[in-house]
Amino acid sequence: MTTPTIELKPSAHPLSDSEREAILANPGFGRHFTDHMVTIKWTEGRGWHDGQLVPYAPIPLDPATHVLHYAQEIFEGLKAYRRPDGSVATFRPEKNAERFQRSARRLAMPELPVETFLEACDALVGQDKAWVPAHGGEESLYLRPFMIATEVGLGVKPANEYLFLVIASPAGAYFPGGVKPVSIWVSEDRVRAVPGGMGDAKTGGNYAASLLAQAEAAAAGCDQVCYLDAVEHTWVEELGGMNLYFVYGDRIVTPALTGSILEGVTRDSLLSVARDLGYEAVEERVSLEQWQRDTENGTLTEVFACGTAAVITPVGTVKRAGGEWRQSGGEPGEVTLRLRRALLDIQRGTAEDKHGWMHPLG
Ligand SMILES: *Cc1c(COP(=O)(O)O)cnc(C)c1O
Repeated sequence: MTTPTIELKPSAHPLSDSEREAILANPGFGRHFTDHMVTIKWTEGRGWHDGQLVPYAPIPLDPATHVLHYAQEIFEGLKAYRRPDGSVATFRPEKNAERFQRSARRLAMPELPVETFLEACDALVGQDKAWVPAHGGEESLYLRPFMIATEVGLGVKPANEYLFLVIASPAGAYFPGGVKPVSIWVSEDRVRAVPGGMGDAKTGGNYAASLLAQAEAAAAGCDQVCYLDAVEHTWVEELGGMNLYFVYGDRIVTPALTGSILEGVTRDSLLSVARDLGYEAVEERVSLEQWQRDTENGTLTEVFACGTAAVITPVGTVKRAGGEWRQSGGEPGEVTLRLRRALLDIQRGTAEDKHGWMHPLG
């Protein structure tokens, strides 16, 4: 089947420069959307077709649309950065495209060709380039590709129609006042994902499963939840939307993939960045007991979380039922900040891109 090309039907009424600039002055995260979106349809027999770039607008859905009942949905998140010369580049978009295909397989959805995923992102960023914040800080344009089952009917089966979309939202610096550690609630009873489940697919259902624990964490005064494995309730997996790293001096450890951990692009990139900076970076099982014990005996010097939205977030306080401790005195650790800067400098184009991770536009 041939790859669809994207027909450009830009808006006759984009926001004015001054309206856009007012939003870009304080964009927050996920609150404002650019002038356009990309849509591509899939139907059984016909495959992918009707790729369009159109004005950002609501999508009408029949109340019996599949996704509204059975949650057959997957998504991605990646960023476009402005570079010192004014050009724009996205960070490792082909990794997101490949993960989107893996998520689609797990949810019995059609796989979008990698080149079509890239073409859709490029078309949107190209059209709405003025929405990519100016170079300088940590601001970026966050891209949200996603796919929903659009067949109408209540029968339970993989749908025979789908809609792929890309929308974009300007993102301010995650820590406008300087990097601040987050507090973590370790959930020892609720789980995010189970072996054989969808934990390694990027699907809204995993987030739905995490919201109650997130609310409990907030009630316990914590920012984020850390999930353990669903069988032994022993091994550290990840946060609701970020992977974890443990710093043992010059040795940096991230939990090995289990099938119920989401394979983050940031997680993967940091294994390379850490090695480039001379650290030993490994994937290993880490238990909650080891985390607490090694913090108390001083061998575990820093802990941080990582994902596209925040890049790297230091972990400060950790709470579990009947216990509480602080990482690196509740301050962002030195290695954490060094890795954060090294990765951000590649993303915003001020450090050499020796792995060829940046995907320039045009
Ligand atoms: C998206 C996501 C991450 C981070 O992945 P990145 O590709 O680094 O943004 C981690 N955990 C979960 C559950 C996620 O959905």
